[in-house]
Amino acid sequence: MSTVKGIEKDDILEFRIDDMSTDGSGIGHISLGQADGRGFALFVKDAAPGDFVRAKVIRLKKSYGYARLLEVLEPSPDRTEPLCPAARQCGGCQFQHLSYRAQLDFKKNMVENLLARIGGFEGIKIPPVIGMEDPWHYRNKAQYPVGRDKNGRTVIGFYAGRTHSIIDLDKYEGAEGCAIQDADSVTIAAICRQWMESFRVPAYDEKSGKGLIRHILTRKAFSTGQIMVCLIINGQSLPHARDLTQALAAVPGMTSICVSPNKRRDNVILGERAKTIWGSDTITDYIGDIGYRISPLSFYQVNPVQTKVLYETALSFADPKEGDTVWDLYCGIGTISLFLAQKAGRVYGVEIVPQAVEDARKNAQLNGIENAVFFTGKAEEVVPREAKKRPDIIVVDPPRKGCDRSLLDFIIKTGPDRLVYVSCGPATLARDLKILAEGGYELKKIQCVDMFPQGCHVECVVLMSKANT
Ligand code: SAH
Repeated sequence: MSTVKGIEKDDILEFRIDDMSTDGSGIGHISLGQADGRGFALFVKDAAPGDFVRAKVIRLKKSYGYARLLEVLEPSPDRTEPLCPAARQCGGCQFQHLSYRAQLDFKKNMVENLLARIGGFEGIKIPPVIGMEDPWHYRNKAQYPVGRDKNGRTVIGFYAGRTHSIIDLDKYEGAEGCAIQDADSVTIAAICRQWMESFRVPAYDEKSGKGLIRHILTRKAFSTGQIMVCLIINGQSLPHARDLTQALAAVPGMTSICVSPNKRRDNVILGERAKTIWGSDTITDYIGDIGYRISPLSFYQVNPVQTKVLYETALSFADPKEGDTVWDLYCGIGTISLFLAQKAGRVYGVEIVPQAVEDARKNAQLNGIENAVFFTGKAEEVVPREAKKRPDIIVVDPPRKGCDRSLLDFIIKTGPDRLVYVSCGPATLARDLKILAEGGYELKKIQCVDMFPQGCHVECVVLMSKANT
């Protein structure tokens, strides 16, 4: 479509940005005399709410369009200079051009709007999002895609927004490699690059399916300093492996080096197995007093400082007592389960990834926790089969797509006193809370925690109780 009544493709317009989309684009409204009085919405990437901009219309749909930012004529008071020179192109950060205070306010409003619009909780007000004191270099995990540029040079970095073209880490130099990653991960990427170039180890090419090195995964346990590196490869083994492990072993804290073969032709990053080629199979991190061993294929939260806040919030909402039976669904390596087990009678964890369940069992042992049991499988299949008595409390922490409908129905049918929903996807959270509310649960408390400063995601913890308790 190139024309909407009153507006055309290639028009250059000046207008105020008055809103922001959930993925961080500014939105301005052009008055075309619509009945709703709000105007025709134009999405402008890299514009901030409050900016007065000049922008060129590049695409029109029936009820909204896209415009390219040409100039910020009057900057918003919330605008700041991004720390990272690649912030605009890189798909990693969406909010670096906004002050941290404005980022937190935006996330709060976004959650309120989704809860009202999708969840039916009209007029809901939630407390401020708990942010970080220092919202930079907070990530303990990096997943660098590896490829080649036009000249055949190895590139290691991050995908540009909405594409698979890789922005090399040397474009991020002004921000010491990457403004949100740990500096050691950048050093590790540089060592891998040098090794690939010295020994002519080919990068993987997505188009042809040829080449070897696909991704470099790094993880650092901030509390112990232990580091893990996992190379995801389009093959079974690494050539010149000893040269690589020798170079990597010189990084202080290096504890585990492994490879994970993955010959799939889709977007799944990790392979199904990981083989240790140097050092231990796992690294160990502490959150609060509890130690966790982490293997390369297991999920582990990426922001350890905020994870502690998140788990403490979940624990205080769940408030387990000595005799309580608690189920922790989507439990990963048992992180929340072990927090709960310190207070509860018995905790049952359920997780789909077998390596994570193995970690969870070892973690219980490692911490001398004897009242936690773990099952491998889908939450929606395992709980109905294994729950012999009514759970007092259920905690769920599903991936972004939310809970399976049959699991929500099971929860409503069995009727635990309290349900704690930890969510990294506020839209699916709102959808699921609506179902639970219709099933007789009342929303009692909600607290958002900012696990992803500079990015557009937000984590929420919600307490629901049976309406009559
Ligand atoms: N609570 C954990 C993990 C949360 S991430 C923590 O805080 O560390 C979500 C987890 O759900 C992942 O470990 C993923 O492997 C798992 N998962 C995804 N689908 C699942 C399902 N249907 N049943 C059980 N676990 C699932």
